Amino acid sequence: MTFKVGVIGLGNMGGGMAATLAGKGFDVRGFDLSPAALAQAQDKGVKPVAARDELIKAVDVLILSLPKAEHVEAVCLGEQGIIELGREGLVVIDTTTSTPEASRKVAAALRDKGIAFMDAPVSGGPKGAATGSMSMVIGGDEADLAKVMPVLEAMSGSRVHIGSCGAGNVAKIANNMLAAAHLITTAEAVSMAAKAGVDPEKLLQGLNAGSGRSGASQVMFPTWVLNKAYDSGFSMGLMRKDVGLASDLAASMDLDLPLARTVAQLWQDSSATLPDGADFCCIVQRTDNALFGREE
Ligand code: NAD
Repeated sequence: MTFKVGVIGLGNMGGGMAATLAGKGFDVRGFDLSPAALAQAQDKGVKPVAARDELIKAVDVLILSLPKAEHVEAVCLGEQGIIELGREGLVVIDTTTSTPEASRKVAAALRDKGIAFMDAPVSGGPKGAATGSMSMVIGGDEADLAKVMPVLEAMSGSRVHIGSCGAGNVAKIANNMLAAAHLITTAEAVSMAAKAGVDPEKLLQGLNAGSGRSGASQVMFPTWVLNKAYDSGFSMGLMRKDVGLASDLAASMDLDLPLARTVAQLWQDSSATLPDGADFCCIVQRTDNALFGREE
């Protein structure tokens, strides 16, 4: 079957996903509230659709890449949304880092209309989206995954089916809770070693050959921190959102997670000096601004 694919949300991630699928021969339409995002996607082979309702009616598979759970609920269940206009048999792949509750609520409402929904949040950043090499953690029904597997395979390098709907977002929230902590703990280790006279690049080589390594030491520090590029394409505001989702999830189960609580506090407090639009890797600057800050 040749799928007609729609993408709602053509930002740093959704724009790359839509372009990847168009480049692999899928018939891809895109919608975004931002005319600039629409125009950029058009340059990469995506058919821009000015009215969201037209796009929802036209496609067999609908990918969402929106900032937060509230946007997903509005697009799915709001006026002129997917629940009203989506055709029976439509499969929605939500790549937004959202909440398990929102995913389950939306999936249950859409199921009554014969529309399938899976939460499939992603890792790999804009580069992963633009090269089809993202990793996805997916919550949904096996049969729905099988139905859209050609699309999932075209947009990602690896997929883990975590469990039923909502499980993908639980896994993604756990992942980002760790990434948020690793950035800070690695900054503290690099700063300490630098003060002890060790070159940060050499230290990273040592860490990455040892058991202290993580995504922060293997990817974030070499790619975006030590060169002071701070251009990962993932914003401070979105990471603060994810850290908040982890705090909410732990609180909803009355869990006491002291380290996660401290990490969340540090990310929250950083808003005094680091605006939402800054790169998320800038969090390291609160540890050691002399070492990690840009000289302005
Ligand atoms: P972004 O801000 O670059 O893009 C979001 C896009 O959604 C924007 O273009 C915005 O105009 C559009 N939008 C907002 N509300 C809309 C609506 N109602 N209808 C249509 N379009 C709407 O964000 P992003 O970095 O692409 O992130 C998207 C999601 O992916 C977030 O949940 C984020 O947490 C997650 N994520 C991001 C990265 C990353 O590296 N950037 C990595 C993994 C996961």
